[in-house]
Amino acid sequence: MQLLSDRILNMATSATLAMAAKARELRGEGKDIIGLSLGEPDFNTPDFIKDAAIQAVNDNYNSYTPVDGYVELKEAIITKFKRDNNLTYTLPQIVVSTGAKQALANIAGVMLNKGDEVILPCPYWVSYSDIVKLNDGVPVEVATSIDTDFKMTPAQLEAAITPNTKMMWFSSPCNPSGSVYTREELRALADVLAKHPNIYIVSDEIYEHINYGQGHASIAEFDDMYDRTITVNGVSKAFAMTGWRIGFIGAPEKIARACNKLQGQITSGANCIAQRAVITALEAEPSSVKYMIDEFKIRRDLILGLLNDIEGFKSNTPDGAFYVFPDVTHYFGKTLRGKTINNATDFSLYLLEEALVATVTGEAFGNPNCIRISYAASQEQIIEAIKRIKEAVS
Ligand code: PMP
Ligand code: GLU
Repeated sequence: MQLLSDRILNMATSATLAMAAKARELRGEGKDIIGLSLGEPDFNTPDFIKDAAIQAVNDNYNSYTPVDGYVELKEAIITKFKRDNNLTYTLPQIVVSTGAKQALANIAGVMLNKGDEVILPCPYWVSYSDIVKLNDGVPVEVATSIDTDFKMTPAQLEAAITPNTKMMWFSSPCNPSGSVYTREELRALADVLAKHPNIYIVSDEIYEHINYGQGHASIAEFDDMYDRTITVNGVSKAFAMTGWRIGFIGAPEKIARACNKLQGQITSGANCIAQRAVITALEAEPSSVKYMIDEFKIRRDLILGLLNDIEGFKSNTPDGAFYVFPDVTHYFGKTLRGKTINNATDFSLYLLEEALVATVTGEAFGNPNCIRISYAASQEQIIEAIKRIKEAVS
C-alpha cells in the first residue's frame, strides 16, 4: 500500500517557503545570498506588544483558550473591524486562528465540496490554489496583466462564473502584485456578484495597513455583500508578528461556527500568549506602526527606481504590501552566461545562482510572466541586490 496520501502527493510545496529554505541552505554553505523571497517584515515586533506577551507569561496564561479565541481578543477584533473597516461583527462571527493561513484553510475545509469552483484572480497568493485543491475544490484562475494593474475586471469575473462557482478569493492589497482595489472597483465586482447570490467571497486583507495610496476598502462594507463575505485579517504583516501565528476572520455566523468546530478537532485554538499580545496590538491605533509603513514606502520607491534602470523589467506601481512583481518576459528565450531562460522559474533560479538574490517565480502565483521581489529588506540590501541583478542580466 502507498505510504503517503494522494492528497499530500498532489499538493505543491509552498514556493515562498521553499525559496526561503533554499536561500537559508545556500547561506549555510557560505554563499552571500540576499533573501528577497519571503514576505516577512524585517522589523522586530514593537516593544509594547512584546511587553504584553511577557506580562501574559507572568500572569500564568498557560491553559487552553476557547477554541475560537479569548473573548477579550474577539472583542478587540470587533473593535478593530469597526474602527478600521466600518464593519459590524458580533462575538459568534469571529474566529481566531493560527495565522491567516489557517483561517483560509478552515474556510476551505468548511465550505468546499468536491468540484466546487473557486475563482482566483491571478496573480493570487501562493497558497490559495493548494488550499482549495486540498479540500476538493477546483481553482478557476482568471489571468490579469500589468495593463490592468493586475486587477480582475467585472467582465472577467462574469465570464469565469459557472453554475459550480462557490466562492471567489482575493487579496487587496494583493500579494504578490501589491495592487489595491479601490472602493469603486470593488463595487463594480460586487455588482457582478449581486447577480449571483450563491457565490461567497473571501476577502484577504492582511496587508490592509501596508497601503501607500488612497486607503483601504473592504468588500463586506457593501450591505449586499456583507452576508456573503468572509473577511480575513491578521497581525503578521503590519505588526511584524509573522512567528506569533495569529490570524482571524469576521464571517457569517454559520461559517464562523463551522470553522470553530473544525479547529476544535485540529488545533484546539491558537497559542495563548500570542493571543494576549494581539489584544494589545489591536487595541493600539494603526498609527503605532506607521513608522514601518513609512519605511516600506521609501523602499518601494527605491526599488522601483532601481528596477526601472534595468532593461526588461516592467513593473506596475504597487500601492500596497511589500512586493514588486515585474514582468520579465523580455528575457524568455534568451541565453545568459550559457543558461537558457525559458520562463519565470528559470529566471528566478538564474538570479539565485548568478546574482545570489532569492526571488520567487510568478508561476507560484498563477502568473508565468513575472517574478516576485519582496522589499521587506534593508535599503542597503535592496541596493546591493538590484545591482547584482543588473550585472547578472547585462
Ligand atoms: N494571506 C496573504 C495574502 C499572505 O501574504 C499571507 C502571508 N503569510 C497570509 C495570508 C498568511 O499569513 P499568516 O502569517 O497570518 O498565516
Ligand atoms: N506570505 C508570505 C509570503 O508570501 C510568507 C510565506 C508564506 O506564508 O507562504 O512570502
